[in-house]
Parts: sequence; structure tokens; C-alpha cells
Amino acid sequence: MSQSPEIGSRTRTRAIMEKYGIRTKKSFGQNFLTDLNVLKNIVEAARITKNDNVIEIGPGIGALTEQLAQAAGQVVALEIDADLIPVLKEVLAPYDNVTVLNQDVLKANLPELIQQQFTDPTRPIKVVANLPYYITSPILMGLLASPVDWDAICVMMQKEVAQRLTAKPGTKQYGALTLAIEYQMDARIAFDVSRRVFVPAPNVDSAIVVLTPRREKLAMQPFDKQKLFGFIRGCFAHRRKSLWNNLQGVVGKDPATKAQLEKVLAQLELPKQVRPERLDLTQFIELANALHAVGLL
Ligand code: SAM
Repeated sequence: MSQSPEIGSRTRTRAIMEKYGIRTKKSFGQNFLTDLNVLKNIVEAARITKNDNVIEIGPGIGALTEQLAQAAGQVVALEIDADLIPVLKEVLAPYDNVTVLNQDVLKANLPELIQQQFTDPTRPIKVVANLPYYITSPILMGLLASPVDWDAICVMMQKEVAQRLTAKPGTKQYGALTLAIEYQMDARIAFDVSRRVFVPAPNVDSAIVVLTPRREKLAMQPFDKQKLFGFIRGCFAHRRKSLWNNLQGVVGKDPATKAQLEKVLAQLELPKQVRPERLDLTQFIELANALHAVGLL
């Protein structure tokens, strides 16, 4: 194993960047993490063991990858920036359980990749990443839409997005993103991370979010998952308006539709003036199913 300091140390990061002439690219959301404690805490929050297969999104120059390689059975890292591939190959050469692929995660076929890249694809599969912030939501939605049974998704993101993911009904952070996550996963913030530990420093603070499969079963199934989430997004289209007003934007506002809508709300004991952020996931499913039953969805 290499005698150099670990990649995530400030000195080693600087040395690597200088040696390979790396200039971070804003367009790829490149903010490299240079704090070994934070890196080790991420691996700990993900509860990585030698039995785990890990997919890392955006290894950068390999700071987190190195920590994952030490803790996991096998690591497959997907990096969009072709310029970083030769760097990663060289700095991660001491670890024979790491594969680096030049891939855009948003275009990757994850089930296929898992079958092809992991020696034993049946082992628990975890995603660990310091995400490129400009595509946090599409990446998370892509992971959740894929048929892979993630054992855990442990990712760093902008603190404000982390708060939306873990928000409770009635708060201003609560919305369609919260519910899309909650539908499949239990979400918690493991810890916050200061902007000062990145090179370059972003202009926001960050947090580590750990998503694990829901322990509690959903109280009820939606008539159609895709349609449910289109419906929920519609209900939050105008946050400051009532559910009643938003609903008219979703299902229509002609007198007959309004009359039906009124009946459904009364039946579910939802006051017309209630705000969308007051409803929990079960209530949204119940409402969508009831609207579907009367032909409005
Ligand atoms: N893991 C490194 C660290 O913690 O220092 C780098 C994290 S940096 C915030 C995000 C990384 O994601 C960059 O290396 C960037 O090039 C990469 N990236 C951006 N968009 C990507 C995409 N669509 N697919 C894969 N990697 C991507």
C-alpha cells in the first residue's frame, strides 16, 4: 500500500492537483472534500463492511473512494469527467477492489452495471457519494426509480436539500421531494458538513443523508405510483395556495368537477382551506385514490 498521506488530506489533494494540472470544473459540480475525519465519518454513517458492494458517484480525485476501498468488499466508481480517469487509475492503483468507470450516472443502466462489475452481485449494495449538487434530485430520483434494492444510500448534498428530504409535514421544507423519498425510504441526516472543508469551497453548507429501505409498510397502495407523484407535484405547484386551489389546477375547475372535488374532500374530512404541506403521505395516497375512483385522475 502507498506510503503517501491519504488522498483526502489537504496536502495530498494539493499535490495530486498540482501533479496532474487539475482545475476543478464548476460545470461538473466539482468540490473536492479535504477532511479525513469527514470522509471516515461518511463511511461509518453508511455502515460499510467487507461484505458490501459499493457504487460511488463522482469519485473526483478519489478521496472518498480510497476510504471506501479500505472498508468495503468492492467499489465501483462512476466519474463523468474523462480528464480524471487517468488520475484515479493512478492514485487508486494500490486498491485492487476498485473499478473506475468513465460514466454519466444519469445515463447508466444500474442493474446491468451491478451484474457486470461486481464479483458477487448478490451482496448488499450501497451507494455512497459526495454528490454533484447541481443534479442531486435527478440522481436520487434515478436511484429510487431503478429496480435495484439498495441496502443504503448515503450521500452528501446541500444542507437545504437534505432538510427537504427529511422534512416533517407542516414545515416549509416539506414537499413533493420529501414524499417521493418517503414513499420508498427512511431518511435521516447523519451530520452537517461545513463548506470550509472543500476545495474549492462551495457557497453553501452540506449534510450527509442516509436513506435506508422503509421499515414500515405503506398504510395503503396508490392506484398508480407515477400518477401519484405527478399528482403530488401538482398539489404543491402553488405552495401558498390552499389544497383546494391547487387541486383545481390538477383536475380542472369546471362546475361539475368542482362539485365532485368538494365531495371527495368532504368524504376524506379535508377542509378546503388546508395547505398541501399539512397532508402526510397516506393522506395524499388516499386523496389520489379517491379522485381516481370518481374518474378525476
Ligand atoms: N468524491 C469527490 C470528493 O468527495 O472529493 C468529488 C465530489 S464532487 C462534489 C462531484 C463529482 O461528481 C465530481 O468529480 C464530478 O466530476 C462528478 N460528476 C458530476 N456529474 C456527474 C455525473 N452525471 N455522473 C458521474 N459523475 C459526475
